[in-house]
Amino acid sequence: NLTYNQVFKDPEISKALVARIREKNTRPLRLMEVCGTHTMAIFRYGIRSVLPETITLLSGPGCPVCVIAQKDIDAYVMLARRPDVILTTFGDLMKVPGSVSSLAGEKAKGADVRMVYSIFDALAIAKENPDKAVVFCAVGFETTIPTIAGAVLTAQTQGIDNFSIYSANKLTPPALAALMKTAGVEIDGFILPGHVAVITGLDAFYPIFEKYRIPSVVTGFEPMDILNAVLKLVEQNESKIPRLVNAYPRAVADAGNPKARAIMDQVFETADALWRGIGHIPDSGMVLRESFYKFDAAKKFELSMPDTREPAGCDCGRILMGLKRPDQCRLYKKNCTPMHPVGPCMVSSEGACAAFYKYSG
Ligand code: SF4
Repeated sequence: NLTYNQVFKDPEISKALVARIREKNTRPLRLMEVCGTHTMAIFRYGIRSVLPETITLLSGPGCPVCVIAQKDIDAYVMLARRPDVILTTFGDLMKVPGSVSSLAGEKAKGADVRMVYSIFDALAIAKENPDKAVVFCAVGFETTIPTIAGAVLTAQTQGIDNFSIYSANKLTPPALAALMKTAGVEIDGFILPGHVAVITGLDAFYPIFEKYRIPSVVTGFEPMDILNAVLKLVEQNESKIPRLVNAYPRAVADAGNPKARAIMDQVFETADALWRGIGHIPDSGMVLRESFYKFDAAKKFELSMPDTREPAGCDCGRILMGLKRPDQCRLYKKNCTPMHPVGPCMVSSEGACAAFYKYSG
C-alpha cells in the first residue's frame, strides 16, 4: 500500500518503465531535459545508467544561473563595490566568476553582499537599512519571476524606495525556439520543465511544438515521472507521431497559473536578453515596466554594461545547447572544479558540469 507520493519513487514501477523503454526503443535518440532540476534528478537517481545505450540525455538551458550572461555578473560585481549598496542574492550566484571578480570575492574583500533565501528577505533588509540602497540579483525563470514581481509590488505599496532589483530574468520557450534554429543542434525530444509549466501551462509550449513538431513531454521530478517522459518520447519517435503531452497533471494545468502570470505581466515586460553561449534571443528576457523604473537598479545606478567575453575555454554554452558533454570540455576536472569553478555550469547546484562532477566523478 503505497502513499500517493511513494508511487512516484517506487522501484518496481520504475523497473517496469525501464523494461518498456528498452522494449520499445529501436533507434538512437537524443533527448534534452531542459530544466536544471531535472538534470540533478536524473543524475541523483542514476537514470542515465538504466537507459539503453541508444538513448542520450542532454542537459538544456534551464538552469538560470548557468545561462546568465557574463556582463550581468559584472554588473552585480559593480553594484557590490558601491559603498552605498547592500547586494542581496541567492547563494548559487556567489561563486560565479565575472570578468574580474565574483560576488564571493567581493564579499571577502569587505563588500556588503548578503545571501538570502527569498526576495522578501531582501525587502526586510531594505526596511532595516533605510540609509542604504538594497539591490536584489533577480535571476530566474517563469517559476521565480511571479514572486519577484510580488516583491516589487510590495515595495511599491509599502513605499520601500531604497529597494531595487537588477533583472537577469529569462523565459523558457524563446530559448527552446532559439535552440531549434541553431546549426548542429540535434534533439529528438524535449523533457519539458514541470516547475515552469506550473506557471506557463502546457499552452506556452504549443507554438514551438507546432512549428518544429518535436516530441515534447512536460513532467515532474521523481524517477517515475522522468522515466515515464522518456517512454512517451520513445513511443512518439517510434510511431513518428510527435505530440505535446502533459505527463505532470498533478501539478500542471494546460492553462498554467493565470494569476501568477498576471502579476508577472503587471510588473515586467519582455525584452531581448543575452544568454550565455547562446547569444541574444528576442523577447526572452523580462525587464521592469516603465511604471516600476524606480525599482530598477540598472536605471537607478545608470549601469550599462558592455558585452564581455565568457571565460576562455569554458564550454558552458555548447553544453547548454546539447552540443557537448561536460567531460568533453578541456577544462573539466583540470582547471575547473566545484572548488575552483571557471563557468557557472560548475557553480550552480543545478548545473550540468556540477552534476556530472558530483555523480560521474
Ligand atoms: Fe565551463 Fe567548467 Fe563546465 Fe568546462 S567544466 S564548461 S569550464 S563550467
